[in-house]
Amino acid sequence: MADLDELEDGVRSGDRRALARAITLVESTRVDHRAQAVELLDRLVDAIGGSLRVGISGSPGVGKSTLIEALGLEIIESGHQLAVLAVDPSSRRSGGSILGDKTRMSELGRHERAFIRPSPSGTTLGGVARRTREALLLCEAAGVDVVLVETVGVGQSEVAVAELVDVFTLLVAPGGGDDLQGIKRGIMELADLIVVNKADGDLAAAAGRAAADHRNALGLMRPRFPGVTPEVLTVSALNGSGIPEAWAAVQDVHSQIRETGALEVLRRNQAVEWMWSEVRDTLLDGLRARSDGGPDVVAIEALVASGHRTATWGAHEILGDVINVTPRDVMRPSEG
Ligand code: GDP
Repeated sequence: MADLDELEDGVRSGDRRALARAITLVESTRVDHRAQAVELLDRLVDAIGGSLRVGISGSPGVGKSTLIEALGLEIIESGHQLAVLAVDPSSRRSGGSILGDKTRMSELGRHERAFIRPSPSGTTLGGVARRTREALLLCEAAGVDVVLVETVGVGQSEVAVAELVDVFTLLVAPGGGDDLQGIKRGIMELADLIVVNKADGDLAAAAGRAAADHRNALGLMRPRFPGVTPEVLTVSALNGSGIPEAWAAVQDVHSQIRETGALEVLRRNQAVEWMWSEVRDTLLDGLRARSDGGPDVVAIEALVASGHRTATWGAHEILGDVINVTPRDVMRPSEG
């Protein structure tokens, strides 16, 4: 059992080892650890919410790690305390996770004002996003004032990260027939800022064209925040050009949405949405871990899959005890 007083004090004082231990606690799926994690987060509630939360998304290979290293150093040099987190449902403790390879962020990883944490391992995206959200809150309690959340640019993990941050940045790279990739994947609507990377050497001209294409495309879209038209910037994460401008643009979006009150609305909605996600996930965990074995989920799935029973029937059959009604009474009135 963790000593919660010690952990709370450690996190509040900004102690990195305590922060790492607290994150390990919230990532644990053990029932007793969950209870402690809930209490720890609740104790720290007065200390959270104070960071600029930035999402960084983009297809594999566009240069997310390289950009985070460059942008991270820029952020630290302007005096901030930085954390880098990740949402990668494919990651496993054994390796293969983004951010797991520390050599990709060597200088940043060594900096005393940077806290880097690889994606928690997990089987479901929901589980991973949930633990990352709690890690983010713990970082804030530890005094971190800028959090970068990286996501693999595939599937729903981008949406999950967009729901977690204040400013969502889409990173793209020119060439490879990959232009306007964000539009195709429906992710551009989420972006508050589009950064075209690799604007250097042979790719510089193509990067300029990609930026123009994205600007045109954005003109046809409704921005995430009314009145905040996403900017399109070109940078080279490799040689550092455009990086200070990119950091300025992130801060600019943040101050705009703070001034209009959109940030407050966003944070409120996110908090309530997180609560309901937590209800859903905890309910599912609870159902899976029932000591009485619970309903025969495999048999219910088979009945639903074969079309012998409806999905609605299956859901009620599984939830029977939880919603405190006898499934028979609800589901089979004709037989009653
Ligand atoms: P990620 O998969 O999105 O994290 O991409 P990485 O940061 O690992 O970068 C993928 C490849 O693109 C690597 O070979 C990088 O060296 C290269 N790269 C990243 N940023 C730049 C850049 O600004 N210019 C150029 N020319 N190459 C870059």
